[in-house]
Amino acid sequence: MKKTIALIAHDNRKSELLDWVATNSKSLIKHKLVCTGTTGRLVEKVFENNNGEFVDLVKFKSGPLGGDQQLGAMVCSGEVDIMIFLWDPISVQPHDVDVKALLRIGVLYNVPIACNRATADFMISSPLLDGDYNCFGLDEDISKYLDRDLPGIK
Ligand code: PGA
Repeated sequence: MKKTIALIAHDNRKSELLDWVATNSKSLIKHKLVCTGTTGRLVEKVFENNNGEFVDLVKFKSGPLGGDQQLGAMVCSGEVDIMIFLWDPISVQPHDVDVKALLRIGVLYNVPIACNRATADFMISSPLLDGDYNCFGLDEDISKYLDRDLPGIK
């Protein structure tokens, strides 16, 4: 089953992501890839250099220019199945709040998120990748939140 996989890498981790994409290109090409701008441009090149393979890939704005927020909007709409987000744990990012927001919304909507290569390796080799995956409990949690008591409001 075709999934939508979000790919994002901060500058210091882009070469690691590209190496991972090249290693796993046969699996990734079966899915739709959605990326922040610069990451997407580089990922596209990996497939181009791989005998010009066609890859279903959408590039949003660059992360610091709002690309993380565009991906976050997709997550809220239930349009992202998996996220590979190699964020930089060493350097300060100008768009740190956007990075946190994307990670928070991904956790809220129960999106599997790999922030390092080992987790990405486990996820790409999971038998769940090609099947239908339903997340139980999420709708209930969201309903509970929407039906919550508000202070001072009856
Ligand atoms: P980029 O954005 O792929 O456009 O570099 C990634 C990020 O910094 O969030």
